[in-house]
Amino acid sequence: MKFENSLEFARKLDSEDKIAKYRNEFIFPKVDGKEVIYFVGNSLGLQPKTARDYVDEIMQDWANLGVEGHFYSEKPWWDYHERFAEKLAKIVGANPSEVTVMNTLTVNLHLLMISFYRPSGKRFKIICEEKAFPSDQYMIASQVRVHGFDPSEAIIEIKKRDGENIFRTGDVLKKISEVGEECALVLIGGVNYYSGQVFDMEKITSAGHEVGAMVGWDLAHAAGNVELKLSEWNVDFAAWCSYKYMNSGPGNASGCFINRKYHNKKDLPRLEGWWGHNKERRFLMEPEFLPEPNANAWQISNAPVLALAPYLASLEMFDEVGMPALIEKRNKIVTYLEFILQDIDKQIDSTFEVITPSKQEERGTQLSVFLHGKGREVFNYLMKNGVYIDWREPNVIRLAPAPFYCSYEDIYNFGQIMKKAILNS
Ligand SMILES: *Cc1c(COP(=O)(O)O)cnc(C)c1O
Repeated sequence: MKFENSLEFARKLDSEDKIAKYRNEFIFPKVDGKEVIYFVGNSLGLQPKTARDYVDEIMQDWANLGVEGHFYSEKPWWDYHERFAEKLAKIVGANPSEVTVMNTLTVNLHLLMISFYRPSGKRFKIICEEKAFPSDQYMIASQVRVHGFDPSEAIIEIKKRDGENIFRTGDVLKKISEVGEECALVLIGGVNYYSGQVFDMEKITSAGHEVGAMVGWDLAHAAGNVELKLSEWNVDFAAWCSYKYMNSGPGNASGCFINRKYHNKKDLPRLEGWWGHNKERRFLMEPEFLPEPNANAWQISNAPVLALAPYLASLEMFDEVGMPALIEKRNKIVTYLEFILQDIDKQIDSTFEVITPSKQEERGTQLSVFLHGKGREVFNYLMKNGVYIDWREPNVIRLAPAPFYCSYEDIYNFGQIMKKAILNS
């Protein structure tokens, strides 16, 4: 399709957008009384208008029923988390038995590493990407130390080549085969938070298995953003937060995937608690742990239903729209954003460098742009003028026009403000 950098053209794209009406289902922050252009759905998704009702419902049930709400509210609290599995499974490409929701992301990765990082003999190394999201770096280093290893020996980072912005799949596969039988675990962010690069999760997962390692994915930037087929790819485990593309609210609960080949496996260690106990017998308070026959066996504490409520509201919308429609719009709106950036770059002879891969299958909603020359001033100008984006050192802005609620008109307007930002700062 031939794009144009004009308001009329952007509006035409909006009029053809099959999921345009969902924009109205979200609440936008305002700057100077005007709704912002919100490109930070990769950091904190917007609030769905239905979220408040879901929370109010629990507050009401708590007021009216007290403890009886566990069993007698309209959506009983004792199995509230079970409402998520089917909807989440569709989003991540899993069987519902393989998916659950609990805790928060880094906590879940720690818990999953208890089960899936089992160093023994010379097999003790973990392969991850260089400059992973800091929480993942701290988590992996601390896990390695808990097992008595030195992070500088046990952690093998995959590196980008000098002067390149993205990882080459071939380099990842090569590193895995080099580490070979010393590799206990491959644990990478499915979508790199800095560049927006989508890793070839299928190929990397099978390369890890070929050398006898476990393979897990941190899907913080992938869930609700890119197509996932965790079951089909035979991924061992994965976890994601829900407050980014999944619009569940600040600090909200994380989803987990645990491949069904590990359910009911008695020799797999796990940290346990009563919410993972067989649900029919949970309240018999028996001394011996009898695990749920699915991913829920990894549950520990009773579910934080007040937090889960807005997540459920959001998932209902995902279920209605479906990932294919979101991905279809995502591809188009991101390509339009890329076109607008290039067009402005030409008009004012600026020097943007999009460091996100240009191939559709290697990127999701996010474009990361390296601003050669003016950086921080441009960012400040954009924020002050109602464009919410984010800044990453040394000179990168990340733009993520979430297809659920961003419009093509947003992209056009962003371009106009961006042009002024470069000229005026
Ligand atoms: C956002 C993000 C996190 C955040 O972790 P929390 O435990 O939810 O605070 C972790 N890892 C990656 C890759 C992220 O993008």
